[in-house]
Amino acid sequence: MPIHLAQTSVKVPKSILIIDDSETVRAQIAHELQSADLCEWVFQAGDGIEAFKLLLSAEIDLILCDIEMPRIDGFKLLGMIRENKKLQDIPVIMLTGCADRDLKIKLLGLGASDYITKPFDAGELIARVKVQLKVKSLQDELRKSNEMLKQLSNTDPLTHIFNRRYMMEMLTKEMQRAERKGSHLSLVMIDIDHFKLINDNYGHQAGDQVLTLIADISKAGLRSYDFAARYGGEEFVLTLPETRHDDALLIAERLRMRIQTHTYTDKLKGLKTTASMGVATYPTDFISTVPDLIREADEAMYRAKAAGRNSVFSMNRI
Ligand code: GH3
Ligand code: MG
Ligand code: MG
Ligand code: MG
Repeated sequence: MPIHLAQTSVKVPKSILIIDDSETVRAQIAHELQSADLCEWVFQAGDGIEAFKLLLSAEIDLILCDIEMPRIDGFKLLGMIRENKKLQDIPVIMLTGCADRDLKIKLLGLGASDYITKPFDAGELIARVKVQLKVKSLQDELRKSNEMLKQLSNTDPLTHIFNRRYMMEMLTKEMQRAERKGSHLSLVMIDIDHFKLINDNYGHQAGDQVLTLIADISKAGLRSYDFAARYGGEEFVLTLPETRHDDALLIAERLRMRIQTHTYTDKLKGLKTTASMGVATYPTDFISTVPDLIREADEAMYRAKAAGRNSVFSMNRI
Protein backbone atom coordinates (compact mmCIF):
# COMPACT_ATOMS: atom_id res chain seq x y z
CA MET A 1 0.00 0.00 0.00
CA PRO A 2 2.57 2.63 -1.01
CA ILE A 3 1.36 6.19 -0.58
CA HIS A 4 2.67 8.83 -2.95
CA LEU A 5 2.29 12.32 -1.60
CA ALA A 6 2.89 13.57 -5.15
CA GLN A 7 -0.57 12.26 -5.99
CA THR A 8 -2.02 15.23 -4.16
CA SER A 9 -0.95 17.60 -6.94
CA VAL A 10 -2.61 15.68 -9.77
CA LYS A 11 -4.94 18.01 -11.69
CA VAL A 12 -8.55 17.01 -11.33
CA PRO A 13 -11.45 18.25 -13.47
CA LYS A 14 -13.19 21.28 -11.95
CA SER A 15 -16.95 21.73 -11.74
CA ILE A 16 -18.74 25.02 -11.26
CA LEU A 17 -22.41 25.44 -10.40
CA ILE A 18 -24.23 28.60 -11.51
CA ILE A 19 -27.47 29.31 -9.63
CA ASP A 20 -29.66 32.10 -10.98
CA ASP A 21 -33.34 32.30 -11.84
CA SER A 22 -32.45 34.19 -15.03
CA GLU A 23 -31.54 31.82 -17.81
CA THR A 24 -29.85 34.69 -19.65
CA VAL A 25 -27.53 35.45 -16.73
CA ARG A 26 -26.70 31.75 -16.36
CA ALA A 27 -25.91 31.44 -20.06
CA GLN A 28 -23.70 34.56 -19.99
CA ILE A 29 -21.69 33.35 -17.02
CA ALA A 30 -21.38 29.84 -18.42
CA HIS A 31 -20.14 31.31 -21.68
CA GLU A 32 -17.46 33.41 -19.93
CA LEU A 33 -16.28 30.50 -17.78
CA GLN A 34 -16.02 28.17 -20.74
CA SER A 35 -14.26 30.80 -22.91
CA ALA A 36 -11.68 31.28 -20.18
CA ASP A 37 -11.23 27.50 -19.96
CA LEU A 38 -11.63 27.63 -16.18
CA CYS A 39 -13.45 24.37 -15.65
CA GLU A 40 -14.45 21.13 -17.31
CA TRP A 41 -18.05 21.08 -16.10
CA VAL A 42 -20.58 23.86 -15.75
CA PHE A 43 -23.81 22.95 -13.96
CA GLN A 44 -26.79 25.27 -13.86
CA ALA A 45 -29.78 25.56 -11.52
CA GLY A 46 -32.72 27.95 -11.71
CA ASP A 47 -33.55 27.99 -8.00
CA GLY A 48 -32.30 26.97 -4.58
CA ILE A 49 -34.08 23.63 -4.38
CA GLU A 50 -32.80 22.46 -7.74
CA ALA A 51 -29.33 23.70 -6.73
CA PHE A 52 -29.33 21.91 -3.37
CA LYS A 53 -30.37 18.61 -4.95
CA LEU A 54 -27.59 18.97 -7.51
CA LEU A 55 -25.03 19.81 -4.83
CA LEU A 56 -25.85 16.65 -2.92
CA SER A 57 -25.43 14.42 -5.97
CA ALA A 58 -22.45 16.00 -7.80
CA GLU A 59 -18.92 17.01 -6.79
CA ILE A 60 -18.88 20.81 -7.12
CA ASP A 61 -15.75 22.95 -6.67
CA LEU A 62 -17.26 26.41 -6.80
CA ILE A 63 -20.74 27.93 -6.59
CA LEU A 64 -21.89 31.20 -8.17
CA CYS A 65 -25.17 32.10 -6.51
CA ASP A 66 -27.81 34.74 -7.16
CA ILE A 67 -29.57 36.36 -4.19
CA GLU A 68 -33.07 37.03 -5.36
CA MET A 69 -34.66 33.80 -6.46
CA PRO A 70 -38.10 32.23 -5.99
CA ARG A 71 -38.73 29.62 -3.22
CA ILE A 72 -35.29 29.46 -1.55
CA ASP A 73 -33.31 32.70 -1.98
CA GLY A 74 -29.52 33.13 -2.01
CA PHE A 75 -29.27 33.93 1.73
CA LYS A 76 -31.20 30.83 2.72
CA LEU A 77 -29.26 28.61 0.30
CA LEU A 78 -25.92 29.98 1.55
CA GLY A 79 -26.98 29.11 5.08
CA MET A 80 -27.98 25.59 4.02
CA ILE A 81 -24.62 25.08 2.27
CA ARG A 82 -22.58 26.29 5.24
CA GLU A 83 -24.50 24.04 7.63
CA ASN A 84 -24.07 20.91 5.51
CA LYS A 85 -20.98 18.84 6.36
CA LYS A 86 -20.47 17.68 2.77
CA LEU A 87 -20.90 21.14 1.25
CA GLN A 88 -19.59 23.60 3.82
CA ASP A 89 -16.09 23.95 2.33
CA ILE A 90 -17.21 24.79 -1.20
CA PRO A 91 -16.45 28.44 -2.03
CA VAL A 92 -19.58 30.46 -2.82
CA ILE A 93 -19.41 33.69 -4.85
CA MET A 94 -22.66 35.63 -4.50
CA LEU A 95 -24.12 37.51 -7.44
CA THR A 96 -25.76 40.70 -6.20
CA GLY A 97 -27.92 43.15 -8.09
CA CYS A 98 -26.77 46.11 -5.99
CA ALA A 99 -23.44 47.27 -4.65
CA ASP A 100 -24.83 48.11 -1.20
CA ARG A 101 -22.12 48.05 1.47
CA ASP A 102 -24.28 46.56 4.25
CA LEU A 103 -25.45 43.79 1.95
CA LYS A 104 -21.85 42.85 1.09
CA ILE A 105 -20.93 42.76 4.79
CA LYS A 106 -23.98 40.62 5.53
CA LEU A 107 -23.08 38.15 2.75
CA LEU A 108 -19.49 37.75 3.94
CA GLY A 109 -20.78 37.33 7.49
CA LEU A 110 -23.06 34.52 6.33
CA GLY A 111 -20.11 32.64 4.87
CA ALA A 112 -19.92 33.90 1.28
CA SER A 113 -16.39 33.63 -0.08
CA ASP A 114 -16.76 36.67 -2.34
CA TYR A 115 -19.36 38.64 -4.30
CA ILE A 116 -19.79 40.05 -7.79
CA THR A 117 -22.21 42.81 -8.67
CA LYS A 118 -24.48 42.46 -11.67
CA PRO A 119 -24.24 43.43 -14.47
CA PHE A 120 -20.86 41.78 -14.09
CA ASP A 121 -17.60 42.61 -15.77
CA ALA A 122 -16.24 39.49 -17.51
CA GLY A 123 -12.62 40.19 -16.52
CA GLU A 124 -13.54 40.65 -12.86
CA LEU A 125 -15.72 37.52 -12.88
CA ILE A 126 -12.89 35.39 -14.25
CA ALA A 127 -10.34 36.84 -11.83
CA ARG A 128 -12.55 36.21 -8.79
CA VAL A 129 -13.46 32.69 -9.94
CA LYS A 130 -9.76 31.87 -10.42
CA VAL A 131 -8.93 32.96 -6.87
CA GLN A 132 -11.70 30.82 -5.35
CA LEU A 133 -10.80 27.77 -7.48
CA LYS A 134 -7.22 28.11 -6.27
CA VAL A 135 -8.39 28.29 -2.65
CA LYS A 136 -10.55 25.20 -3.15
CA SER A 137 -7.76 23.25 -4.80
CA LEU A 138 -5.31 24.10 -1.98
CA GLN A 139 -7.93 23.09 0.58
CA ASP A 140 -8.50 19.76 -1.18
CA GLU A 141 -4.76 19.03 -1.32
CA LEU A 142 -4.39 19.83 2.35
CA ARG A 143 -7.29 17.55 3.25
CA LYS A 144 -5.87 14.69 1.19
CA SER A 145 -2.40 15.10 2.73
CA ASN A 146 -3.94 15.14 6.19
CA GLU A 147 -5.90 11.97 5.44
CA MET A 148 -2.74 10.25 4.18
CA LEU A 149 -0.74 11.36 7.21
CA LYS A 150 -3.49 10.12 9.49
CA GLN A 151 -3.54 6.78 7.69
CA LEU A 152 0.25 6.54 7.92
CA SER A 153 0.20 7.36 11.62
CA ASN A 154 -2.39 4.61 12.24
CA THR A 155 -0.70 1.92 10.18
CA ASP A 156 2.15 -0.46 10.89
CA PRO A 157 4.64 0.07 8.03
CA LEU A 158 5.60 -3.62 7.68
CA THR A 159 2.25 -5.41 7.81
CA HIS A 160 -0.05 -2.52 6.82
CA ILE A 161 -2.54 -3.41 9.53
CA PHE A 162 -3.28 -0.95 12.38
CA ASN A 163 -0.48 -0.16 14.79
CA ARG A 164 -0.56 -0.32 18.56
CA ARG A 165 -1.18 3.41 19.02
CA TYR A 166 -4.32 3.30 16.89
CA MET A 167 -5.46 0.05 18.48
CA MET A 168 -5.29 1.63 21.93
CA GLU A 169 -7.25 4.64 20.71
CA MET A 170 -9.93 2.45 19.14
CA LEU A 171 -10.05 0.04 22.07
CA THR A 172 -10.76 2.94 24.43
CA LYS A 173 -13.62 4.08 22.19
CA GLU A 174 -14.97 0.55 21.84
CA MET A 175 -14.93 0.06 25.59
CA GLN A 176 -16.87 3.28 26.11
CA ARG A 177 -19.37 2.10 23.52
CA ALA A 178 -19.66 -1.35 25.14
CA GLU A 179 -20.26 0.30 28.52
CA ARG A 180 -22.91 2.59 27.04
CA LYS A 181 -24.71 -0.18 25.20
CA GLY A 182 -24.20 -2.84 27.84
CA SER A 183 -22.52 -5.11 25.28
CA HIS A 184 -19.47 -7.37 25.39
CA LEU A 185 -16.05 -6.49 24.00
CA SER A 186 -13.50 -9.24 23.43
CA LEU A 187 -9.78 -9.10 22.87
CA VAL A 188 -7.55 -11.81 21.42
CA MET A 189 -3.82 -11.50 22.14
CA ILE A 190 -1.74 -13.45 19.61
CA ASP A 191 1.96 -14.29 19.91
CA ILE A 192 3.77 -16.32 17.27
CA ASP A 193 5.49 -19.39 18.70
CA HIS A 194 9.28 -19.60 18.54
CA PHE A 195 9.42 -16.77 16.09
CA LYS A 196 13.08 -16.17 16.90
CA LEU A 197 13.84 -19.57 15.35
CA ILE A 198 12.22 -18.46 12.07
CA ASN A 199 14.54 -15.44 11.96
CA ASP A 200 17.52 -17.63 12.90
CA ASN A 201 16.78 -20.34 10.36
CA TYR A 202 15.36 -18.40 7.43
CA GLY A 203 16.70 -14.87 7.93
CA HIS A 204 15.18 -11.64 9.14
CA GLN A 205 13.60 -10.83 5.78
CA ALA A 206 11.78 -14.14 5.73
CA GLY A 207 10.69 -13.36 9.30
CA ASP A 208 9.20 -10.11 8.02
CA GLN A 209 7.37 -12.04 5.31
CA VAL A 210 5.88 -14.37 7.93
CA LEU A 211 4.74 -11.40 10.04
CA THR A 212 3.00 -9.86 7.02
CA LEU A 213 1.34 -13.15 6.20
CA ILE A 214 0.10 -13.73 9.74
CA ALA A 215 -1.23 -10.15 9.79
CA ASP A 216 -3.14 -10.93 6.57
CA ILE A 217 -4.53 -14.18 7.98
CA SER A 218 -5.49 -12.39 11.22
CA LYS A 219 -7.55 -9.72 9.52
CA ALA A 220 -9.11 -12.05 6.93
CA GLY A 221 -12.65 -13.07 7.75
CA LEU A 222 -13.20 -10.42 10.41
CA ARG A 223 -16.46 -8.48 10.44
CA SER A 224 -16.28 -4.85 9.33
CA TYR A 225 -16.25 -3.53 12.91
CA ASP A 226 -13.59 -5.97 14.19
CA PHE A 227 -10.00 -5.03 13.67
CA ALA A 228 -6.55 -6.57 13.75
CA ALA A 229 -3.49 -4.66 14.89
CA ARG A 230 0.21 -5.31 15.33
CA TYR A 231 0.76 -4.97 19.05
CA GLY A 232 4.51 -5.57 19.17
CA GLY A 233 7.28 -7.39 17.28
CA GLU A 234 5.52 -10.72 16.67
CA GLU A 235 2.40 -9.99 18.67
CA PHE A 236 -0.99 -9.16 17.22
CA VAL A 237 -4.33 -8.23 18.73
CA LEU A 238 -7.87 -8.76 17.51
CA THR A 239 -10.44 -6.33 18.88
CA LEU A 240 -13.92 -7.82 18.66
CA PRO A 241 -16.76 -5.48 19.61
CA GLU A 242 -20.13 -6.96 20.58
CA THR A 243 -18.60 -10.39 20.96
CA ARG A 244 -19.23 -12.70 23.88
CA HIS A 245 -16.40 -14.71 25.39
CA ASP A 246 -17.42 -18.06 23.83
CA ASP A 247 -17.69 -16.52 20.36
CA ALA A 248 -14.30 -14.85 20.76
CA LEU A 249 -12.79 -18.21 21.73
CA LEU A 250 -14.23 -19.71 18.52
CA ILE A 251 -12.81 -16.88 16.41
CA ALA A 252 -9.39 -17.29 18.05
CA GLU A 253 -9.50 -21.07 17.55
CA ARG A 254 -10.37 -20.64 13.88
CA LEU A 255 -7.41 -18.27 13.46
CA ARG A 256 -5.08 -20.65 15.32
CA MET A 257 -6.07 -23.42 12.88
CA ARG A 258 -5.55 -21.19 9.85
CA ILE A 259 -2.06 -20.24 11.00
CA GLN A 260 -1.17 -23.85 11.76
CA THR A 261 -2.42 -25.20 8.44
CA HIS A 262 -1.01 -22.47 6.21
CA THR A 263 1.23 -23.91 3.50
CA TYR A 264 4.31 -21.78 2.82
CA THR A 265 5.89 -21.71 -0.62
CA ASP A 266 9.14 -20.64 -2.31
CA LYS A 267 11.91 -19.79 0.16
CA LEU A 268 9.62 -20.58 3.10
CA LYS A 269 8.61 -23.99 1.73
CA GLY A 270 8.27 -26.54 4.50
CA LEU A 271 7.94 -23.92 7.24
CA LYS A 272 5.22 -24.47 9.81
CA THR A 273 4.06 -21.65 12.06
CA THR A 274 1.88 -21.74 15.12
CA ALA A 275 0.67 -19.11 17.54
CA SER A 276 -0.46 -18.95 21.15
CA MET A 277 -3.51 -16.87 21.99
CA GLY A 278 -5.19 -15.44 25.03
CA VAL A 279 -8.81 -14.30 25.04
CA ALA A 280 -10.46 -11.89 27.48
CA THR A 281 -13.88 -10.28 27.43
CA TYR A 282 -15.26 -7.10 28.98
CA PRO A 283 -17.09 -6.85 31.35
CA THR A 284 -16.30 -9.20 34.25
CA ASP A 285 -15.49 -8.63 37.92
CA PHE A 286 -11.83 -8.46 36.90
CA ILE A 287 -12.19 -6.49 33.70
CA SER A 288 -13.61 -2.99 33.79
CA THR A 289 -10.91 -0.96 32.03
CA VAL A 290 -8.75 -1.23 28.90
CA PRO A 291 -5.59 -2.12 30.90
CA ASP A 292 -7.59 -4.88 32.68
CA LEU A 293 -8.70 -6.32 29.36
CA ILE A 294 -5.18 -6.30 27.92
CA ARG A 295 -3.67 -7.74 31.11
CA GLU A 296 -6.13 -10.63 31.22
CA ALA A 297 -5.70 -11.45 27.51
CA ASP A 298 -1.92 -11.25 27.90
CA GLU A 299 -1.94 -13.50 30.96
CA ALA A 300 -4.13 -16.04 29.15
CA MET A 301 -1.69 -15.95 26.22
CA TYR A 302 1.23 -16.69 28.55
CA ARG A 303 -0.69 -19.62 29.99
CA ALA A 304 -1.08 -20.96 26.46
CA LYS A 305 2.70 -20.64 26.04
CA ALA A 306 3.37 -22.37 29.34
CA ALA A 307 0.96 -25.18 28.43
CA GLY A 308 2.99 -26.03 25.32
CA ARG A 309 2.03 -23.28 22.77
CA ASN A 310 -0.20 -23.54 19.65
CA SER A 311 -3.37 -23.15 21.72
CA VAL A 312 -6.07 -20.70 22.80
CA PHE A 313 -6.50 -19.92 26.51
CA SER A 314 -8.92 -17.85 28.48
CA MET A 315 -8.58 -16.77 32.09
CA ASN A 316 -11.78 -18.71 32.79
CA ARG A 317 -13.05 -16.07 35.14
CA ILE A 318 -16.14 -15.05 33.18
P1 GH3 B 1 7.77 -17.67 22.11
O1 GH3 B 1 7.18 -18.90 21.53
O2 GH3 B 1 8.07 -17.85 23.56
O3 GH3 B 1 6.95 -16.48 21.86
O4 GH3 B 1 9.18 -17.47 21.41
P2 GH3 B 1 9.60 -16.35 20.40
O5 GH3 B 1 10.89 -16.75 19.78
O6 GH3 B 1 8.49 -16.07 19.46
O7 GH3 B 1 9.68 -15.09 21.34
P3 GH3 B 1 10.78 -14.02 21.61
O8 GH3 B 1 10.06 -12.91 22.29
O9 GH3 B 1 11.96 -14.63 22.30
O10 GH3 B 1 11.24 -13.55 20.18
C1 GH3 B 1 10.53 -12.72 19.38
C2 GH3 B 1 11.39 -12.41 18.21
O11 GH3 B 1 10.70 -11.60 17.25
C3 GH3 B 1 12.63 -11.63 18.55
C4 GH3 B 1 12.72 -10.53 17.55
O12 GH3 B 1 13.98 -10.49 16.94
C5 GH3 B 1 11.68 -10.90 16.52
N1 GH3 B 1 11.09 -9.73 15.89
C6 GH3 B 1 10.45 -8.69 16.48
N2 GH3 B 1 10.06 -7.79 15.57
C7 GH3 B 1 10.44 -8.28 14.36
C8 GH3 B 1 10.31 -7.80 13.01
O13 GH3 B 1 9.75 -6.73 12.74
N3 GH3 B 1 10.81 -8.58 12.02
C9 GH3 B 1 11.43 -9.76 12.29
N4 GH3 B 1 11.88 -10.48 11.26
N5 GH3 B 1 11.58 -10.22 13.54
C10 GH3 B 1 11.09 -9.50 14.56
MG1 MG C 1 -32.59 36.59 -9.33
MG1 MG D 1 6.41 -12.07 21.92
MG1 MG E 1 6.64 -15.32 20.20
